[in-house]
Amino acid sequence: MKYIEEFQNPQLAQRLLDDIHATVTRPWALMEVCGGQTHSIIRHGIDQLLPEHVELIHGPGCPVCVTPLEVIDKALEIASRPEVVFCSFGDMLRVPGTGRDLFRVKSEGGDVRVVYSPLDALRIAQQNPERQVVFFGIGFETTAPPNAMTVYQARRLGIRNFSLLVSHVRVPPAIEALMLSPDCRVQGFLAAGHVCSVMGTDEYPELAERFAVPIVVTGFEPLDILEGVRRTVRQLERGEHRVENAYPRAVRPEGNPAAKAMLEDVFEVTDRAWRGIGVIPDSGWRLSERYREYDAEHRFTVGGITTEEPAACRSGEVLQGLLKPHECEAFGTLCTPRNPLGATMVSNEGACAAYYLYRRLGGATAPKETSPVA
Ligand code: SF4
Repeated sequence: MKYIEEFQNPQLAQRLLDDIHATVTRPWALMEVCGGQTHSIIRHGIDQLLPEHVELIHGPGCPVCVTPLEVIDKALEIASRPEVVFCSFGDMLRVPGTGRDLFRVKSEGGDVRVVYSPLDALRIAQQNPERQVVFFGIGFETTAPPNAMTVYQARRLGIRNFSLLVSHVRVPPAIEALMLSPDCRVQGFLAAGHVCSVMGTDEYPELAERFAVPIVVTGFEPLDILEGVRRTVRQLERGEHRVENAYPRAVRPEGNPAAKAMLEDVFEVTDRAWRGIGVIPDSGWRLSERYREYDAEHRFTVGGITTEEPAACRSGEVLQGLLKPHECEAFGTLCTPRNPLGATMVSNEGACAAYYLYRRLGGATAPKETSPVA
């Protein structure tokens, strides 16, 4: 498949690996921000092919994983109401709230539906004017524009029985929060290419300068990741800290102006809680005053929520790169994808799920190898 297979070429991967091995003279710790990159790294064994002292730390870039427990519990409460059709992408249905998940609500009679686009939810609202249709709008700068556009369309078409339960988050404030943490070991970032395809790269030079860290915009295929690592360690070895774009086939410096304009119209920046991390100032979006009537939290009064995280789950440390998933005592025993304790074991982009899928049978602590990926 064009633009995928050529970015998995083993010979080219070996050349990039040779270059990385020839460049690195000291230990370096790099963080890949996005959960999609984490899965690619673990699936292809990229971390095991790098020089011994180059560590890839998995970042908090899994949208499902960072959605706060309180928001999940609100979703469960709203979805349980008889007048509500609750629509969501499928990966949210198994995310554990306090004591249950959306699948449980559905099995108890709640009208919970999996959709493939927020516009599907808007169509359901059009077809069922007597019901209240709620779409669960979570995620980073990548999923926020279509959700913003759906609310814009609802307003334009006068569809008043539609609302959005919003938990959108932004990457740059999370990088800032990680760098300000006293426990932070990160020396360079592989920034999330798809986020930058929407937002561009303007938000990153200030962070690179302030924290003296290279930030390299990186894609998702093995060659993309290796090129991101190659450019990051090259900067580190030279004592540089710039923003570089290693994903030019998708990312322009200015991003996607139409998507950014839609975000600016429909949302406003707000503080957001990140599951396992806490509140990060200015790290999210909520619906702006003009669109507030489409805010599910505004439309439905949801009170009396008391959240409780499973004591055994250490996903907060996993999300901050302080713990590798297989170092959690519950990994693969008390906690599996069928019986997840934390969202990082549920989501397609969760680090715990990646280790369970690709490393469970003894690979997690395997020594680094020298053969190429793919
Ligand atoms: S393995 Fe399970 S219990 Fe442990 S941190 Fe990951 S999600 Fe939480």
